[in-house]
Amino acid sequence: MHDDNHQEDNHQDEWSLETLAIRAGHQRTFEQEHSEPIFPTSSFVYASAAEAARKFGGQEPGNVYSRFTNPTVHTFERRLAALEGGERCVATSSGMSAILSTALALLSAGDEIVASRSLFGSTVSLFDKYLGKLGITTRYVELSSVSAWEAAIGPKTRLLFAETPSNPLSEIADIPALAALAKRHNALLAIDNCFLTPALQQPLALGADLVIHSATKYLDGQGRAVGGAVVSSHALLEEVFGVVRTCGPCLSPFNAWIFTKGLETLSLRMNAHCENALTLARWLDAHPAVTQVFYSGLEDHPQHALAKRQQKGFGAVLGFEVKGGQAGAWQVIDATRMLSITGNLGDVKTTITHPATTTHGRLSDSQKEAAGITPGLIRVAVGLESQRDIQRDLAHGLDVLAD
Ligand SMILES: *Cc1c(COP(=O)(O)O)cnc(C)c1O
Repeated sequence: MHDDNHQEDNHQDEWSLETLAIRAGHQRTFEQEHSEPIFPTSSFVYASAAEAARKFGGQEPGNVYSRFTNPTVHTFERRLAALEGGERCVATSSGMSAILSTALALLSAGDEIVASRSLFGSTVSLFDKYLGKLGITTRYVELSSVSAWEAAIGPKTRLLFAETPSNPLSEIADIPALAALAKRHNALLAIDNCFLTPALQQPLALGADLVIHSATKYLDGQGRAVGGAVVSSHALLEEVFGVVRTCGPCLSPFNAWIFTKGLETLSLRMNAHCENALTLARWLDAHPAVTQVFYSGLEDHPQHALAKRQQKGFGAVLGFEVKGGQAGAWQVIDATRMLSITGNLGDVKTTITHPATTTHGRLSDSQKEAAGITPGLIRVAVGLESQRDIQRDLAHGLDVLAD
């Protein structure tokens, strides 16, 4: 069915990231389509009983059932693997199921995870509540302190898990240092690369063993679909694939197609997101109603140098603290007319949220304080609208607060 000839001599190894994002992974069918096709089919047919037997038995490669493999999903997997520089990618139904499948594949009862404290909220619930039930325990450490990671590692530690930059304070984990730690202690390092994407950070090249994605965010980039992926070596991903194939958190062909098309503009979008975010961070930093801005692109960010070293850009999620605590923050949020008040991110539309009462609302006051989630903190995930319009919208509330 597939014509691999063109693909095999296309010198993909020499392509830059921008080209891979547009051309990697598509195996043109006999229809000679230019754009990637969608295969919305649950199963596949065979020319004979003998062929069916060989494919079911795994003696002959090929599609059997879309919970196992689907050509549209496979196109997305090949393209994302190429962008992350991984041997293989397994796509999943969501970012959370990418994390769950990785944990089920690689961990057993009694194993321990060491994770950064400032993780996506559902990831913490998954680790504590659901992996906890299976006898897998998690210790949380300060993201930016390599010595804290080292101190938390024990003989049963199998996985180090970090999200960098952190949300919403833009703290940075030193990926090469954590990778060295993981190797020394015979553990694996997984990086949730949702905030930067391979366009801005390639954790595998920095020494990580696994990259996790919520494709829901920047890989799609326009807020249309939920999905996820894991990128790693053939050996590790064979285990993850086994979980997805058997337990069923597979990606739908339609969503895979959306993500594949989203990847085509990934570099362009990420660069534009970064530019908009840096301009906004500088503007906020100079505003009299703003007491602090958290963004690794600002020169006075404590890890600015590290961010510059391991990232190609600073991302587009930033936190800032306003005068007047929660009342001040809510006033600024409620005065916006264009920005979307929502906890989501990774969209062309700029979103604004109050972490202390939404994304981090379930934390106790002391946990919030430890995590730096103050009452006056606002998070903005900067989209691609005109910079002038984003600033003007935030100025409605900020200017009143400054007076
Ligand atoms: C959204 C998100 C997830 C979860 O992804 P879903 O696609 O919503 O399941 C995981 N990690 C990070 C950093 C996220 O932002």
